[in-house]
Amino acid sequence: MVREVTRGRCFVGRLRYGSDLLTELTGICWSEKVTLGRLEFIGAVTKARLGYYDQPEKKYRFFMIDKPLEILKGTGNVSLRDGEPMVHAHLTLADADGRAWGGHLAPGTIVFACEFFLQALEGATLARGHDEETGLPLWTMDET
Ligand code: ZN
Repeated sequence: MVREVTRGRCFVGRLRYGSDLLTELTGICWSEKVTLGRLEFIGAVTKARLGYYDQPEKKYRFFMIDKPLEILKGTGNVSLRDGEPMVHAHLTLADADGRAWGGHLAPGTIVFACEFFLQALEGATLARGHDEETGLPLWTMDET
């Protein structure tokens, strides 16, 4: 299940202080009409809400880290869900003692500062649909 893609337009920028990290990243994909791409970002958040997927239960468990944290690494992709751009991102964060936290980026993570790089990709359309085995909204790709 592989598709060859080519690099499309490239964007760099920073996110607004106090904004919701996932909402802002998704909004940029909307405004720039990016429906397939990869994302990288670093910076800091004033608090974080992350998810962990419970595989036996097939559902996300979300948790809050209610303190300022560094974004050591934010990484993700952009594809379509229900015909609209969807950002799927994971974060590694660090607290004042350098301890790391991590997980699936969820709404409720608030930007202190964030610099991002967005690479649009062309040549394929990837849409998410329910995957029976995992319970996740994975890319639906024909077996070729
Ligand atoms: Zn995830």
